[in-house]
Amino acid sequence: MQVLHKEVGSDYAMSVIEGDSGLEYTVIIEPDDYDACNCGCPDHSYRHHLCKHLRFFLDYLCMIYPAMWIDHFRRLHEEDKWRKQQKRKESDSSVDQESQAPLRQSIL
Ligand SMILES: [Zn+2]
Repeated sequence: MQVLHKEVGSDYAMSVIEGDSGLEYTVIIEPDDYDACNCGCPDHSYRHHLCKHLRFFLDYLCMIYPAMWIDHFRRLHEEDKWRKQQKRKESDSSVDQESQAPLRQSIL
């Protein structure tokens, strides 16, 4: 996987990533808005989580701009972890549906 093109600011980053299969994906990261993060690959389109391209680009940003991006990196990974836990709870919620907390609107 490699970064073909990038535009990076302190609160926005976009890139064209070449995946292992040779296909190119446009990746957008808005660190303050997990839901605005986007990648054109099927994995992200279907699951809306941090796909391997988003993770790859986040790792890359941390390496190149650690001071600017380390906090964003942590927050997005935290949010990703939280969302996955929620999904897991939803999928085995047939037993204790009522004890489920209401879905959080946003992390911020
Ligand atoms: Zn992707």
